[in-house]
Amino acid sequence: MSFSKSMLALAVMAVSFSSYAAKQADLMIVDGTVLTMDQQNKIIEQGTVVVKENKIIAVGGPELSKEYQANKVLDVDGDIVMPGLINTHTHGSMTVFRSLADDVPDRLHRYIFPLESKMVSREMVRVGADLANIEMVKGGVTTYVDMYYFEDEVAKTVDKMGNRAVLGESVINFPVADAKTPEEGIQYAVNFIKEYKDHPRIIPAFAPHAPYTNTTENLQKIAKLSIELDVPVMIHLAETDREQEEIAKRTDGKSPVQYMADIGALNNKVIAAHAIMVDDKDIDLLKKYDVGVAHNISANTKSAKGVAPVVTMLEKGVRVGLGTDGPMSSNTLTTMNELNLVGKIHKLENKDRAAMPPLTVVELATMGSAKVLHMEDKLGSLESGKLADIIVVDTKSPNMVPMYSPYAALVYGANGSNVRHTIVDGKILMEDRQLLTVDEKAIIKEAQDFSNKVRKTVIDSGEVVK
Ligand SMILES: [Zn+2]
Repeated sequence: MSFSKSMLALAVMAVSFSSYAAKQADLMIVDGTVLTMDQQNKIIEQGTVVVKENKIIAVGGPELSKEYQANKVLDVDGDIVMPGLINTHTHGSMTVFRSLADDVPDRLHRYIFPLESKMVSREMVRVGADLANIEMVKGGVTTYVDMYYFEDEVAKTVDKMGNRAVLGESVINFPVADAKTPEEGIQYAVNFIKEYKDHPRIIPAFAPHAPYTNTTENLQKIAKLSIELDVPVMIHLAETDREQEEIAKRTDGKSPVQYMADIGALNNKVIAAHAIMVDDKDIDLLKKYDVGVAHNISANTKSAKGVAPVVTMLEKGVRVGLGTDGPMSSNTLTTMNELNLVGKIHKLENKDRAAMPPLTVVELATMGSAKVLHMEDKLGSLESGKLADIIVVDTKSPNMVPMYSPYAALVYGANGSNVRHTIVDGKILMEDRQLLTVDEKAIIKEAQDFSNKVRKTVIDSGEVVK
């Protein structure tokens, strides 16, 4: 054998040996700007993320891609690869009401509750949730926290779409579409929780609307049940003047947070939406009871309710993440569209340009939000062993060029439409902006058709706003 022939034989042997030795994976993302959002906030250029079944099994540089053979490879050509966004507070089904009566004063009581008493039904919840799911997956939200009615209908849409959700069945002190009394609401929630407790992507939960729209007795009952059943409790907390006044009346002047602590309804199961009207003592209580806080900046600024003191909360070690609130409140369901406002409003509020830097904002949307759900061991960063909830953000759109800092590009430049691929639980739900698990056109058509019913019932009749 000549020298060159023996070299060739060796080369063939090496190739066949390396392909024999390559470890098997299901999905591999290569050539990404990988924002791991791990404890060191490591960024890997030309990075590789390897997925097997529903988990991330390796994260590293370009050399890693040679160690694995994957059934599917996404070459992302320098795009941002990051953990999926977690929306810690919304009411997804309300998409079918979006852009109705946006600036009506005292809107919740004057408009939204009367609107819901006419329009909420199983059909409305399903149609709205289908639309919400596609909007969130297209906007890079891989997990969301929902509070609404007929949550078993929402669960079916999430099951079909393939995304991840914490779904809280509402409990409120007046008759609603799925419960004549709050006690019936609690029972509805218990049944729903038992039905979905073992679902791989759905976490069923309780969602008492707010302290002032529930009795002390029911808030205590829910707190007890949530511990017995080991499920979260979502609640609007310290959000409005009316809530503050009514709780002060109920308690001889206590704040809503103090009241919840005193009745034994604050603990690490609680995800509190808003927490705007809180003083230092309240913030200390949120920390002491390990409560998660969902910060909803665009809803809070649009409703002119105020800015939650998130900078102080973070200094004190409170678990804070980002939410959008319902689509009637912020008019968006992706936290990607909130990042910009979060960064800027807290600078303004603190009169400090250095406050709330882009890295902190991206942390809030990912790891911070995972901490709100007490799921930081499973979600929020790209690390081996975590669930494979991953998004890829296009860095070649005009608004993303050039990209000196990926965090600044995401916070000050990006929007939900820049999300290119969305992966949940190891499965690609959107590839190059095409949804793979549901029929986007059919869902949008159904929502448009439903909006004609809304138009007829509440706009043409003029019955809702009195
Ligand atoms: Zn809300």
